[in-house]
Amino acid sequence: MKLMIFSKALYSTWIYYSPDRILFDCGEGASTELENKAFAIRHVFLSHGHADHISGLMGLINIRNNAMGDREKDLYIYFPAGNHFISELITYFARTNRRLRYRLEWVPLKAGDRVPLLKGRMPRYIEAFPTVHAQGEISLGYNVIEVRRRLKPEYQDLPQEEIVQLVREGRKDEITEEYAQKLLSYGGDSVPLRPQLVAETELLLHEATFLSDEDRKEYKHATVWEAVEVAQKAGVKKELICFHISSRYRRELGKVEREIAELNLPFKVTLIPPGEIVTRD
Ligand SMILES: [Zn+2]
Ligand SMILES: [Zn+2]
Repeated sequence: MKLMIFSKALYSTWIYYSPDRILFDCGEGASTELENKAFAIRHVFLSHGHADHISGLMGLINIRNNAMGDREKDLYIYFPAGNHFISELITYFARTNRRLRYRLEWVPLKAGDRVPLLKGRMPRYIEAFPTVHAQGEISLGYNVIEVRRRLKPEYQDLPQEEIVQLVREGRKDEITEEYAQKLLSYGGDSVPLRPQLVAETELLLHEATFLSDEDRKEYKHATVWEAVEVAQKAGVKKELICFHISSRYRRELGKVEREIAELNLPFKVTLIPPGEIVTRD
């Protein structure tokens, strides 16, 4: 299991990404459903401070305190710097959890800030990007990025033996270049994301509260068709996952999926049914 997703607009949204032990947002029910995996989480990245994205924090912080055995369970919670609701919540937790048995760090982030996830040959990090949601509500999206190496364009047509020879001669750095591959992009609640912010990501998680623009009273959320357009413009490589779908549409999702299939997009599209847990390997 690589991804575990629960999302129902206005009620609760949380997404667990196991390779880097990240929870994106923490709506109600996250720790209840994640059970043992709640102890594995190392980083929580909050997109904004609305209740349906933060109401599971009390349960998560509390259950980790009650765990037996494991002492290696530091928890880092990242949030958009200056977000009013989250600042209030931090004060509340500071007052009510004076004797936590593990290290809990709240880390404010601004767009462009990076958080290292993994060291090694192909390091990974998170980079925050700006999103536009509700008036006065500071919000962020997050890219999980892996640093990879590839042959420079001028060496890409060389026969394999010659490349091996060059590497043996110690010229690997000369013939290859580093590049940053987005593995996953999470936009949180937002109007359509700017495609260049999530360009060429493998997996785009874009909100799609509405199926049609006519149902949208205020411009705070995206439609499923806007999410598809963002994914097309961004050149998503593998999959678009639409989450935060309003429960009013539960019975129409099959029809929309068929309409999307007719577009013959170069990536898979998944709609998260409101109220159901969806997993991905
Ligand atoms: Zn929401
Ligand atoms: Zn919201």
